[in-house]
Amino acid sequence: MSRKIIIAIDGYSSCGKSTLAKDLAKELGYVYVDSGAMYRAVTLYCIDNHIIQDGNLHAESLKFAMHDIQVGFRYDPLHNENITLLNGKDVEKEIRSMEVSRFVSQVSALKYVREAMVHLQRQIGKEKGIVMDGRDIGTVVFPKAELKIFLVAKPEIRAKRRFDELKSKGYEVSIKEIVENINHRDQYDTSRAESPLRKALDAIELDNSFLNPGQQLERVLSIARKKIADGVQN
Ligand code: C5P
Repeated sequence: MSRKIIIAIDGYSSCGKSTLAKDLAKELGYVYVDSGAMYRAVTLYCIDNHIIQDGNLHAESLKFAMHDIQVGFRYDPLHNENITLLNGKDVEKEIRSMEVSRFVSQVSALKYVREAMVHLQRQIGKEKGIVMDGRDIGTVVFPKAELKIFLVAKPEIRAKRRFDELKSKGYEVSIKEIVENINHRDQYDTSRAESPLRKALDAIELDNSFLNPGQQLERVLSIARKKIADGVQN
């Protein structure tokens, strides 16, 4: 039986990380874990519980509330995907809203939020056989991941992809709003003190601006299969 590995996919907002991660997981029979969904769920809690109010995040209140926040996933076999749970409730749709997107980078920059989520992510990855996407998976969460991909794509292409994705989910948003949000999150995510978004030294950079999902999958899958077969350890 082939050994299982950890595949870490990092990159800027709306680069197609989740598409690649889901496709890889499906092909390899691995579990896909959307780490961004976890930070989004904490942000939703803040909005619902007035920890974010009038555009302000009350970081001290969140610190005290952390022990009341349970984030997890439930596997949906019908659609072969993980549903994000916040205190046991399915919040998969709510966490994708623009309101959550607007505040998530501020929430995810907090040390105690990151510590709690990273702990959970490592628990989920204990048995390996996972593909996890995010911003710090290859640098902080799993620095010894056997395969690390750093995805990049041109800004206008990323904005168009996010626009199409949100539209297909029934959200009314403008391209302008999306461009502003992507820029804001990239700026925040790369400049924060705690686990800023960086390309790991041993990550493979892939620009998927002109690749369709099938082409990007093909490229990464061949590398992943080789890693699995080789038994290469970083
Ligand atoms: O991946 P997604 O765009 O849904 O992530 C939402 C936000 O969560 C990011 O903009 C970033 O602020 C945060 N995040 C993070 N670390 C991760 C995954 C996401 O800080 N590993």
